[in-house]
Amino acid sequence: MVTEQNGATPDVTILGAGIVGITTALSLTERGFKVALIDRNPPAEGASYGNAGSLSPWSCVPQSMPGLWKSIPGWLIDPEGPVALRMGYAAKFLPWAVKFFQAGQEHRLPVIADAMMALTRPTVTLYRHHLQGTGSEELVRDSVYVHVFRNAADADLSKLGWRMRAERQVPLEVVKGDALREVEPALSPDFEAAVLIKQQGRALDPGGIGKALAEKAQKIGVAFLQRSVEKLVPEAEGAWRIETDAGPLHAKRIVVAMGAWSGKLMQDLGVKAPLEAERGYHLVFRDPGVSLNNAIMNVDAKFVVSSMAAGVRCAGTAEFAGIDAPPDYRRAHVFKNLAKQMFPDINVEDTDEWMGPRPSTPDSVPYLGEVSGFANLYAAYGHGHTGMTMGPKTGEVIASLIAGETMDVDMTPYRIDRFG
Ligand SMILES: Cc1cc2nc3c(=O)[nH]c(=O)nc-3n(C[C@H](O)[C@H](O)[C@H](O)COP(=O)(O)OP(=O)(O)OC[C@H]3O[C@@H](n4cnc5c(N)ncnc54)[C@H](O)[C@@H]3O)c2cc1C
Repeated sequence: MVTEQNGATPDVTILGAGIVGITTALSLTERGFKVALIDRNPPAEGASYGNAGSLSPWSCVPQSMPGLWKSIPGWLIDPEGPVALRMGYAAKFLPWAVKFFQAGQEHRLPVIADAMMALTRPTVTLYRHHLQGTGSEELVRDSVYVHVFRNAADADLSKLGWRMRAERQVPLEVVKGDALREVEPALSPDFEAAVLIKQQGRALDPGGIGKALAEKAQKIGVAFLQRSVEKLVPEAEGAWRIETDAGPLHAKRIVVAMGAWSGKLMQDLGVKAPLEAERGYHLVFRDPGVSLNNAIMNVDAKFVVSSMAAGVRCAGTAEFAGIDAPPDYRRAHVFKNLAKQMFPDINVEDTDEWMGPRPSTPDSVPYLGEVSGFANLYAAYGHGHTGMTMGPKTGEVIASLIAGETMDVDMTPYRIDRFG
């Protein structure tokens, strides 16, 4: 899969071969640029490997919302709760957390929601476009996003998050009782109601999609270099030197797409842009004995369940522990109990566990575009909970910007210096 770079310096060097780096490489190559993609691992083995695979063109509700803070203490003391803060990490986490809660003020939400949706809206169309000819076209399926509630009264479209979606023409429907069982026959009757978000997609193998697209990128001329990036050094006339574990590389333009690992690299350049590794877990039931028709969000427990190529995958939770802390797979095994509550007939014995870091900004909007103060340096990271969805449009935006095209997206909300 990985080839060494030979010959001339590429027009654009992308750091990080997650879904963002890979789709950016495809969009740039389609515009005639010579591209190199550098990753210390084979493509799509970071957060882009094990996510929940929900491809929602309608994602416009950020993680930080008014009143969220009231739920946090209860979540933190519950070992099966959706949020964990590891002992000893609180002081490092605090500055980001303050900005996170500030971002969730109601007056800031419209700009955030529109910025999110500009990147999510074309996701399914762009995946189908990029997957053409790979043989992996079937890895993206049409889906409804079924948000299930135990208590029917909680499926309430007058709540702020649903109103934000309705204002943006998101196709929503509330279903209850037998109508919900028709949508998802395996779901326990303990779940009384759901809000359906219609007309979206789901990935049957997020990592497989990344690898198929990386292979396509390589076939159309993208050079892959398996190296660890250690430092960026600006040189004369807007050029760059990339220090790697296998010696320096020269670059004309750099796109930083190293997901949660981008923070340290940019910090070393003096760029101040808050980023947390919001670590999530998945558990795959390899022999589940049940099949789900759609991506299903358990709204109370905050995780997504979906039938994938390898089995039924539960994915979610947010753990703040620092990017390098070892995984705590107890957080993945919590899904056994939760899945049994949702699907009484599911077999939870044969499992596969995983942890990956979401690259989370305080306002759920990624850092995109030119990095002020530096020539030929572009940010493409910070996609948080929706990077699998936003990846392909991010690639388009970055490629348009580098190509000097007229932009169809207002870049202001994505500025890397927006937190001062
Ligand atoms: C549990 C969970 C569930 C999720 N569910 C969804 C979902 O349903 N829908 C959705 O849209 N999104 C979802 N996400 C979010 C999504 O997975 C991420 O936002 C997205 O994958 C980020 O992509 P990326 O390319 O920026 O980063 P990554 O995929 O993490 O890629 C970064 C790359 O940089 C490389 N790298 C790091 N350091 C170096 C270095 N020093 N040198 C060279 N290379 C380096 C890594 O090896 C990696 O390949 C979920 C995330 C998690 C954790």
